[in-house]
Amino acid sequence: MRPDFLPFSRPSISEADIDAVNAVLRSGWITTGSKAAEFEKNFSSYVGCPDAVAVSSATAAMHLLLQAMGIGPGDEVITPSMTWVSTINLIILRGAVPVFVDIDKDTLMVSAEAIKERITERTRLIIPVHFAGAAVDLTPIRRIAKQNNIFVVEDAAHAVGTGYKGARIGKTGTSIFSFHPIKNITTGEGGMFCSDNPDLLKRIRRLKFHGLDVDGYDGDTPGRPLHAEVTEPGYKYNMPDILAALGIMQLRRIEEFNRKRTELAMRYRGQLASVPEIVPLADPAYPITHSWHLFIVRLDTDKTGLDRDALMERLKERNVGTGLHFRAVHLQKYYRETMPEYPGKLPHTEWNSQRICSLPLFPDMKIEDVDNVVEALKAVLSRGKGKK
Ligand SMILES: *Cc1c(COP(=O)(O)O)cnc(C)c1O
Repeated sequence: MRPDFLPFSRPSISEADIDAVNAVLRSGWITTGSKAAEFEKNFSSYVGCPDAVAVSSATAAMHLLLQAMGIGPGDEVITPSMTWVSTINLIILRGAVPVFVDIDKDTLMVSAEAIKERITERTRLIIPVHFAGAAVDLTPIRRIAKQNNIFVVEDAAHAVGTGYKGARIGKTGTSIFSFHPIKNITTGEGGMFCSDNPDLLKRIRRLKFHGLDVDGYDGDTPGRPLHAEVTEPGYKYNMPDILAALGIMQLRRIEEFNRKRTELAMRYRGQLASVPEIVPLADPAYPITHSWHLFIVRLDTDKTGLDRDALMERLKERNVGTGLHFRAVHLQKYYRETMPEYPGKLPHTEWNSQRICSLPLFPDMKIEDVDNVVEALKAVLSRGKGKK
């Protein structure tokens, strides 16, 4: 057993990252300003979109998008239930109806065919999720959305650096990224709204800062012009320079981070080939560049007496941390009680919700750590045989 605890994720923060944050702290201007503007510029040029808006979280960006679109009572929003709870909570909080579609059993992503079946005259928005660092199959989803005049916003929280058919996620369409500490780059907390629609970008920029018709920062002098005024009621979701400075530094290392993640993921795949009870996700059939945000496996409960929760407990006893991405939203207390029509109706989502587990994966991990995790898995599985 390894002597120290291996967390399932840990941000990679360098001395240079710390220096960059310290410089902002010492500068006299610590909230949204030139660093946030620079981070937006660098991020949009990285993904290839015309512009981007830095915000306090991906959840905040999604809230702004729902506000900008006026999503409310009577509207339906199509989303997987295999996603982070924030999306569904926001839809409910706006008085709209989340419409869940099932996912592919082995990629955990929605398909255009599944979405098509749930489109009604009330459908206003589709929120596909790029899962674990892979890309959802966008072309057919965009096609049916366009045919039905429905907007698509991609949940790209897992997809910094992910590619789809030769272009980075975020380059076209509208997408939302997260910089929460477990994501591929971090600002502590933070998010980025990317779009190729200049009117929408302008609207989001305004809504993220009280609805003032200026940015939080005026290029010449920090602070707002004297006559900034509210043009529509907005929120307070701007990203401070303290965090943006970290984002700028992290973004410089994204390719290095993702290369390391890929190397670790390939080692997992190789080592797990000899562990039949543990089934990794499959690669999509279309061309993608994987950013390996998560290494998700499913426990084949038919081949072992263990269930997933017990597996996670036993691994923890062996100093190996794990994550769960995600417990299906429709199976959680509030949603079981308010949307009782769903349990039992999303078979692939539910099958995975009971069996998935995210193994440790972060850029500062070592190849030997992967081998340790696989050894721990084998030990737990062999002791678990025949036991509940
Ligand atoms: C992390 C995550 C979010 C939310 O991101 P925050 O920045 O924490 O608000 C949304 N969707 C998915 C799929 C995520 O993994």
